[in-house]
Amino acid sequence: MIIGFTTSFPVEIIYAAGHKPVDLNNIFITGNAKKYVEDAEFIGYPRNICSWIKGMYSVVLSSEIDAVIGVVEGDCSNTQSLMATLKDKDIEIIPFSFSYNKNRQELKREITKLEEYFNVPHSKVMEVKMRLDRIRKKLIYLDELTYKENKVTGLENHFWLVNSSDFNGDPDNYENRLDQFVLEAENRESLKFNFRLGYLGVPPIITDLYYFLLENDANVVFNEIQRQFAMPYMEEDLTDQYLKYTYPYTVFDRLEDIKVEIKKRKLDAVISYSQSFCHRQIDNMLLKKYIDIPFLTIEGDQPGDLDARTSLRIESFLDMLRY
Ligand code: SF4
Repeated sequence: MIIGFTTSFPVEIIYAAGHKPVDLNNIFITGNAKKYVEDAEFIGYPRNICSWIKGMYSVVLSSEIDAVIGVVEGDCSNTQSLMATLKDKDIEIIPFSFSYNKNRQELKREITKLEEYFNVPHSKVMEVKMRLDRIRKKLIYLDELTYKENKVTGLENHFWLVNSSDFNGDPDNYENRLDQFVLEAENRESLKFNFRLGYLGVPPIITDLYYFLLENDANVVFNEIQRQFAMPYMEEDLTDQYLKYTYPYTVFDRLEDIKVEIKKRKLDAVISYSQSFCHRQIDNMLLKKYIDIPFLTIEGDQPGDLDARTSLRIESFLDMLRY
């Protein structure tokens, strides 16, 4: 079976059950994203709802997805309604919740529920976890090649980390391609750029952001949420792994991680991305309040290239850093 999902969750369970997990966000953004959004609006999805939600809706209806795991606590305030509209189209819906209070027992119960749903023993799930952790270790190395050696661009870093949410549905193939990429990156000259940036927030819907930054002498050496998708803490226990993962919890959990990485990676500034109509724009107020290096908020709405106004704001921000 092909199992779609709305954000990172214990994907180990799906692999252990012999199914193929598919991150709906990745299919949306690498496909005909504008068309996916238009299709959802055509059937009545409101204009003032985040494009990712509309994109995921259309992806499910136009792909060979057998069931969808909706993370209904710890991700997006719109997911419950997205699930309802999919259920109305006879799509099988499986809810998963992170615990708002990071309660270990609650999260463990959710994991057990999912294992029971897919009828897979925990021991088998742990075998898959160990297999995926071997790839995740390589992603930690790729991240180090980015911020220690300056051999990987922000876009490449983004690409590998964001795709680790589902390992493109085929961990062996993903790992082979990753090995080749790492080998190539190791043998490169270090990149030359003036500014070391952090990128905060959900992955951008803007397609050329990283190119634009690099053209303007700035490389992203910290992709906050994408790195979270790669589960970089190497916890031995599955529940602990998903307790350490900051994205589903509060903005204060994210801040703790961000502050460590700002120092470790010697960041000059951060760009905080907000998606139009996303409740996480509220979190951005607190990120801005508690992060004490130069901070620029940008917003994206529809899939596509940077608009002129945002390009100008980024250029002015980099000019300010320069002088
Ligand atoms: S960007 Fe925000 S509103 Fe859109 S799907 Fe993600 S969490 Fe939900």
